[in-house]
Amino acid sequence: MSSRQKIDAMLKTIEAEYSFTKGWTGLASLQPEVMAAMRLVSREEFVPPSLKAMAYENTPLPIGNGQTISQPFIVALMTDLLCPKKGDVILEVGAGSGYQAALLSLLVRQVYTIEKNPDLAERARDLLQKLGYGNVEVRLGDGYKGWPEHAPFDGIIVTAAATHVPLSLQEQLKPGGRLIIPVGPPYETQELLALKKDENGEFSTRNVLPVSFVPLTRDTR
Ligand code: SAH
Repeated sequence: MSSRQKIDAMLKTIEAEYSFTKGWTGLASLQPEVMAAMRLVSREEFVPPSLKAMAYENTPLPIGNGQTISQPFIVALMTDLLCPKKGDVILEVGAGSGYQAALLSLLVRQVYTIEKNPDLAERARDLLQKLGYGNVEVRLGDGYKGWPEHAPFDGIIVTAAATHVPLSLQEQLKPGGRLIIPVGPPYETQELLALKKDENGEFSTRNVLPVSFVPLTRDTR
């Protein structure tokens, strides 16, 4: 199978998983814009060379340093829940391989992504640059605190499991914006939350789906 055929198969699987989970997520199918963007990003570039053959399977894969690139269905769902718009400026916490950031970069104006692991941050930065994703900036640091210099953001996506919703991220979200974050105990099942900030700065929260993410670790220095 060519990479193109593998991507098409991956998208079919994602659509099937959307149907299975519709009762939880309330979403019947993936937004066409998100699907179109997923067609354009070569996930095989973001996984270790030895795992290239598995790059389009609907599964998380190890990316080194004990971290993982998320399952394509979850990437699709979180991107969808964020409701990205062309002019948006988005913050991602947990750059990992850079795949989620690359996907978002095709849908919005600017992506800022923070990674606390130096090896991963450097690799993601180099790879995104090499592949020509020019509207993504990768920073090494603790994303728990957000990225105040570029706040407020139209949307924030956290791709590691937090024990609670960080206040700093709530503060750095624009009114009308969405914050997508897995919350729960580390190394157990968490709940994917979709928060929306209204024009008065009040939050509404929706529990979307049980998920399993690597932990969001705090910088305790
Ligand atoms: N979005 C990534 C997958 C992320 S895995 C992708 O598309 O590949 C979660 C990542 O969050 C890991 O790389 C981990 O190192 C990072 N991480 C954990 N805690 C963090 C923190 N406090 N700040 C920034 N990154 C963090």
